Amino acid sequence: MTQTYHGSCACGGVAFAATGPLRAIAECHCGQCRRTSGHFWAATSVPEERFQAERAETLRWFRSSEIAERGFCNRCGASLLWHPFGEGTMHMAPGAFDDPVGLPTTQVLFPEDAPDYYSVEGPPHAGPAAPERLDCACLCGKVRFTLPGPAGEITACHCRECRKLSGLYSASFEADEATVDWQDRSGLATWDGLTGITHGFCRNCGSSLWHRAEGIFSIEAGAVTGPTGGRLARHVHMSQSADYDQPDDGLPCYPDLP
Ligand SMILES: [Zn+2]
Ligand SMILES: [Zn+2]
Ligand SMILES: [Zn+2]
Repeated sequence: MTQTYHGSCACGGVAFAATGPLRAIAECHCGQCRRTSGHFWAATSVPEERFQAERAETLRWFRSSEIAERGFCNRCGASLLWHPFGEGTMHMAPGAFDDPVGLPTTQVLFPEDAPDYYSVEGPPHAGPAAPERLDCACLCGKVRFTLPGPAGEITACHCRECRKLSGLYSASFEADEATVDWQDRSGLATWDGLTGITHGFCRNCGSSLWHRAEGIFSIEAGAVTGPTGGRLARHVHMSQSADYDQPDDGLPCYPDLP
């Protein structure tokens, strides 16, 4: 029996349906996936004829390389789709789906491109670099900024909103907003989330960049283009995590906040 899975972005401007079976999940740690999602990106896929956009008023496509384009919501910034040209497949973030997908993660792509603040095999390595300045940018370059480093402790959030926006879960560190030096914010857009959090992203390429909650400003770790000097320290809001999203890196996991 075939099952249809329904997915959507965080604000509801984009909705789609994919008819199963869905391919197992692949996690990609390449620089493009990290900048788009704000941490790393995960995807399942179906042949194009089993994919249907049901609502696309805020769906935008960004040609991120010679071989593919990325689909995102330009109202909330959710990283939703990856579409390689001429292959006949559509790849989608499992975090977009509203119901459990029951899929294993079987592939890890570009593990050698993983940054210094986590490790794909388990607990993060101790990083020797403690950069004094962090360079940050979206994928297209229409948002670029720097701030003092190192990043320090990085928190992974598995709440529903982070899942929808990042495609899996988010990773961010607190920063003093007053110390951010903006080189370009011509692409910057913000979305006031459903839980009182303002999210900053690029309206041109969909990259997740920062969020502000109760006056606390945080940078999405994937926005940092070089070493962060940071370290993933904890997983929060695990009570909202999806069935395929169960970290095994040995870090403390909290059902809500510590
Ligand atoms: Zn949206
Ligand atoms: Zn951009
Ligand atoms: Zn969250």
